[in-house]
Amino acid sequence: MNDHREIYQTLFERLRDPVILLDASGKVIEMNRAATTLLSDITGQDTTPMLSNWFGGDRGPGLEAAPPHAVQLLTLDTPAGIRQFELESQLASDQSDRFRGTIIILHEVTELKDAERDALNRSASAQLISGISAKLIGIEPHEFDEAVDESLGRIGTYNSAAGAFIVQFDTMGDRVYLSHWWSSRDESPPGARFDAVEALQVQAWRATLAQSDLCVLPLQPGAAGGDRVEPLLDCLGVPCVVRLPLLYHNEPIGCMGLTSADPQRTWPPENLELLKKAAQVLTNALQQRRVEEALAQERNLLRTLIDSLPDYIYIKDVGSRFVMNNAAHLRLLRAKRQDEVYGKTDHDIFPPDLADSYLRDERGVMESGQPLVNRDESVLTEAGERRWVLTTKVPLKNAEGESVGVVGVGRDITARKQMAEQLESHARLLEQANADLSARNQELDEFTYVASHDLQEPLRKLISFSDVLREDLDAGDMQGVTRAANTISSAARRMKTLVEDLLALSRSGRQSMHWQEVDLGECLAMALDVLEVRIAEEKAEIEVQPLPTVYGDRNLLAQLFQNLIGNALKFHGDAPPWITFTVEPDGDDWIVGIRDNGIGINPEYAEQIFAPFKRLHGRGQYEGTGIGLAICRKIVERHEGRIWVEPAHGGGSHFRFVLRARQEEPST
Ligand code: ADP
Repeated sequence: MNDHREIYQTLFERLRDPVILLDASGKVIEMNRAATTLLSDITGQDTTPMLSNWFGGDRGPGLEAAPPHAVQLLTLDTPAGIRQFELESQLASDQSDRFRGTIIILHEVTELKDAERDALNRSASAQLISGISAKLIGIEPHEFDEAVDESLGRIGTYNSAAGAFIVQFDTMGDRVYLSHWWSSRDESPPGARFDAVEALQVQAWRATLAQSDLCVLPLQPGAAGGDRVEPLLDCLGVPCVVRLPLLYHNEPIGCMGLTSADPQRTWPPENLELLKKAAQVLTNALQQRRVEEALAQERNLLRTLIDSLPDYIYIKDVGSRFVMNNAAHLRLLRAKRQDEVYGKTDHDIFPPDLADSYLRDERGVMESGQPLVNRDESVLTEAGERRWVLTTKVPLKNAEGESVGVVGVGRDITARKQMAEQLESHARLLEQANADLSARNQELDEFTYVASHDLQEPLRKLISFSDVLREDLDAGDMQGVTRAANTISSAARRMKTLVEDLLALSRSGRQSMHWQEVDLGECLAMALDVLEVRIAEEKAEIEVQPLPTVYGDRNLLAQLFQNLIGNALKFHGDAPPWITFTVEPDGDDWIVGIRDNGIGINPEYAEQIFAPFKRLHGRGQYEGTGIGLAICRKIVERHEGRIWVEPAHGGGSHFRFVLRARQEEPST
């Protein structure tokens, strides 16, 4: 029995866990070495206060009412510091089931609990950081600020802060602004007056932040940087308790801070670590946003620039599909918005032949990698208007130098082209006018020559027979006087006819045209009316037939018929004149002819007879001035037609001329 007792005692003493034996009244009967070390020797003492502290409530002197076996967690302030134990209590009864006492064993679990708490903390903070990161990555620009505010909320809540904020420097670095704000009680952001802060002060603070780390504020005077109390954060007017710089590649873009009602509050190191990580995530997101904003701004600037240029600018992808068109080009294509032409090819917009030629050019540019510079292109607008564009196409290359599309720049040169064309046509007109003028001058020279020549002939007669008349009068030769007077009178008549015909020729070239649709049958009737007596005298046979309607001057065309029929009546052979008409369509024109059975014309002179005063016979044979056909040519030319003579089948002449049937006024 004693042996057992000894063994038991040894075991009891050596147990690493503190063990205490209490009697039924709650007094310590025995405690092992570990228990004594932990609690000092309390054997025999009243443990009521200790037990009520351990087990809670007032349990009385013993632990009779406690469950027979229980385990609970206990925190004790020991000489080795605050420790955590699992307290196991076991009620002991005797054979007759009477409560005899309690055995208490304390298992230390401080390290276990620390590890557990650590693990929990770690996973909470890891969750927080990954949550923020996930929220801020790939976010749409318009949701960004809200997401940052929400992230600040999660950080603030995790740290039990009253508020959290971000202050940023603008991109120039000499202004600050409160960019994001969260408050646990939904308070609106303080009316911070950052505008009043001078640029120099801002730069100084930037320098401070660049060199500082996370700070728990307010900084104590004398601490590193403590004399430079954060002047800008003071402007916030909130008790900022923690602030940490937002550094991107060691450059401060701003700072993040937490506010608390209790400026003396302490911060567990793991929370401060977490804040640093959160700041890093936020910095990356804010910086990314800044870059995106700067890019968007640059894009906007570039876009505004190219949209305000009058030139057409567009980008096509490797399949020659439009991916960008500036405002001027959209206007040309009659599109209001980019998406109306986005992805379309020239084949969706222009006629196939134009689209084919554009595509050929662009493939050439992409394959050769060489630009196509200042090519004159004709463009058909959506309104069907043809415009001229001076186009330059440059290959668009990726980082590897491969062509991935084309950039096109076009300048509308329609006005310039039209001007050049106008100038050219003016030059042509001028040239034509010059040619006409010199032809007319030449004609006039010839005309003057022949006119003076032909007029001189009767004039000479007049002069010489006036002398003869005078001599005959002096000599009293009355027969001679009569002869001379007759000759003078006939020479004067001839001059009169010549002058009248000359006037008729001049009139036929000058008198203004009265354009209208003219039935040539009517013109023929007018001519026959005038020639009625001569037709009867010559016993001429005239085969009238239906003639076409042309566009021209009725009186001049009647004159044309009169002159030609007059000649046919005059230049007949032995047989009486027989006159017929020919009509032949020639495209939009008519070829009309007058055919006679007269003496005919040697083809050698076929051209010359149309010149003024040109006659093939002396007046002894056929009376005339040689002006009739010149008038005919003038009339036909004023109708922009042509006149010529051919030998008629079976002898005689066939005069033919072309007249226009269309209703368009010729340019004369
Ligand atoms: P004119 O009749 O006053 O001589 P024209 O100019 O009418 O002058 O004719 C020029 C010349 O052309 C005539 O002199 C004549 O030699 C020739 N000629 C014109 N018409 C005919 C014709 N129908 N047949 C033959 N010769 C003609």
